[in-house]
Amino acid sequence: MHYYILTLGCQMNKADSERIASFLDDNNYIKQDDWPQADLIILTTCGIRQSAEDRVYGLVGRMRKLNPKATIVITGCLAKRKDVQKRLAGKVDLFMPINELPNLLALLHNCRPDNLLSSDELRKISGEKYLTIQPKYESNFSAYVPIGNGCNNFCSYCVVPYARGPEVYRPASDIVSEVKALIKRGYKEIILIAQNVNSYQSKQTNFPKLLSVLASLPGDFWLRFSSSHPKDLSDELIAVLASSDKICHHLHVALQSGDDEILKAMNRKYTAAHFCSLIEQIRQAKPGIIITTDVIVGFPGETKKQFLNTVKLIKEMNFDMAFISIYSPRPGTVSWNMKDNVSREEKKRREKVLLDILAVNSQNINDSYLDKEIIVLAEGINKRGKYYGKTSGFKTIKFIVPTEMRLEDIIGNFVKVKINKIVSNNLEGEFVK
Ligand code: SF4
Repeated sequence: MHYYILTLGCQMNKADSERIASFLDDNNYIKQDDWPQADLIILTTCGIRQSAEDRVYGLVGRMRKLNPKATIVITGCLAKRKDVQKRLAGKVDLFMPINELPNLLALLHNCRPDNLLSSDELRKISGEKYLTIQPKYESNFSAYVPIGNGCNNFCSYCVVPYARGPEVYRPASDIVSEVKALIKRGYKEIILIAQNVNSYQSKQTNFPKLLSVLASLPGDFWLRFSSSHPKDLSDELIAVLASSDKICHHLHVALQSGDDEILKAMNRKYTAAHFCSLIEQIRQAKPGIIITTDVIVGFPGETKKQFLNTVKLIKEMNFDMAFISIYSPRPGTVSWNMKDNVSREEKKRREKVLLDILAVNSQNINDSYLDKEIIVLAEGINKRGKYYGKTSGFKTIKFIVPTEMRLEDIIGNFVKVKINKIVSNNLEGEFVK
């Protein structure tokens, strides 16, 4: 049996697909690089925006038409949605919430008995828990390590709590073992992920304590984590963040709006003032840290005046980067029932206003890198022969390397790069011995 996995959306989906791949490999399936020849096609889907959802409808239609014999499985954010199941009925064989992964073979057996392995093999996997499945990491130097799954926050626009269910966390001992094994294998970047890492709890351990234990492990590696909710970003976490250079000089923390009334309607449970004081506290504790954020424009009822509060905050906070999303109503969420009364044109205008501010901020920050030497984790080489990689602050750097150096000595390693050029907001430099 040959399988193909298509992953859409966030880091959590990528980590889930890595676990699906290793689960299938362990059960004698063979990975295929494209779907037309695959017997089993799995789509790890994203439902955060309508456009992501529409992409799945288009893909499934094409896959079913061109590969009618394949078993098609939908997992990820769309797996539990009744309206999606109805729309894709007859085209998709199985809708599988990701925590059902340990039962995948049995589920496949139920939906396509002709397409399955023996009952001995089915018994082999019963009782396993999804996050305990050893993943097949896509990279050999950077790994996502999920510390939990699900969300209890119910932001009014978000489908994740419905799609992934309540928060469930892995035991700290499992996480520490996975990270130790990665360090032993020479991994240089470990990215701890969950929908809300800050609310991690396991017996006596919370997220700051877990992070502190991981940062104290011997080895040459970086630790990142995502996503952080401002309401759970504690003093204890900020102190740990500042305590070790192994914990990267980058924090992504979602603002969503700079207006208190909109934040309330979004059910975000913090105020704009609290958010600003957090950012200042973090910058004081870890000088040079790069902070990035998320903002939604055009939330139902967002007036021009309320939007200007976001503009003001974005200017004042001097973010290095922000992901601006145009509000898109998601079925089943609280805001689905609110009137989506900001026109598409106005949403686009608001998006552009913020992007223009961010471009100037980013340019100013990038200018300060000129002639500096920085450590980069080299990730690859592009078609033009330039290497690229990320800094601890999550900046992408392109750089050139003396021709006598071997690819394998560069990619997947920490290298020193001197920044000598800033090309329309991109940093470029050269390898320093
Ligand atoms: S914290 Fe809010 S935005 Fe993030 S996953 Fe949970 S509900 Fe969605």
